[in-house]
Amino acid sequence: MEQIRENIKTIQQEIEGACIRMGRRREEVTLLAVTKTINPTEMQIAYEEGLCHFAENKVQELVRKQPLFSEGITWHLIGHLQTNKVKAIVGKVSLIHSVDSLRLAEAIDNEAKKINVIQDILVQINVAEEETKFGLKTHEVEELVRQIALLKNVRIQGFMTIAPYVVSAEENRPIFRKMKQIFVDIKEKNIDNVSMNTLSMGMTHDYIVAVEEGATMLRIGTGIFGERIT
Ligand SMILES: *Cc1c(COP(=O)(O)O)cnc(C)c1O
Repeated sequence: MEQIRENIKTIQQEIEGACIRMGRRREEVTLLAVTKTINPTEMQIAYEEGLCHFAENKVQELVRKQPLFSEGITWHLIGHLQTNKVKAIVGKVSLIHSVDSLRLAEAIDNEAKKINVIQDILVQINVAEEETKFGLKTHEVEELVRQIALLKNVRIQGFMTIAPYVVSAEENRPIFRKMKQIFVDIKEKNIDNVSMNTLSMGMTHDYIVAVEEGATMLRIGTGIFGERIT
């Protein structure tokens, strides 16, 4: 428990340091606690240490844990979402990070319409074009953004990427830089119903580099809670 508190303090200092180096304001960067497989007692510690954004990768786990916490938590779905799970999650999370097809965006839009909400989403991009990962290829991004922008009950807030697992975080710098460039390019197109303000990138092993390259949301699990036992 004490370790979790220590971990969070260290990470906060690193984020602040990176912001200072880059001339960024600390408020531009939101730290998400990735709470998959983590028990509510440990999650509560993170909350006490000031982390009020929780991110889960599975719909069922998120829905099960959500009632255990107060309204003060902002919930994020960061894992791959199947269309048959959409109904269970729309309206329950402030942001879905993992939209990677028009079909999925349409399913979210349909469900959001039914319950009369606007669901904020990020489009997931596979910048490194790894075979094993979900997400759009770079050349597919603009067309999909334009198609999703026509849906009334979803709103694109930005992009998410999962960078490759690498030995040295520096290896991911070009990936983050490319992601930022795609983000800026789409932002400059000023597409109706698209607000480009969120760039979700950077995990335990590479979040400092991600902040340096413009991330606005960091998704950190192991770095906060320790190795996951699954
Ligand atoms: C698990 C997970 C993370 C956090 O990974 P850590 O290496 O434990 O920080 C971030 N993003 C996604 C999509 C994840 O599934």
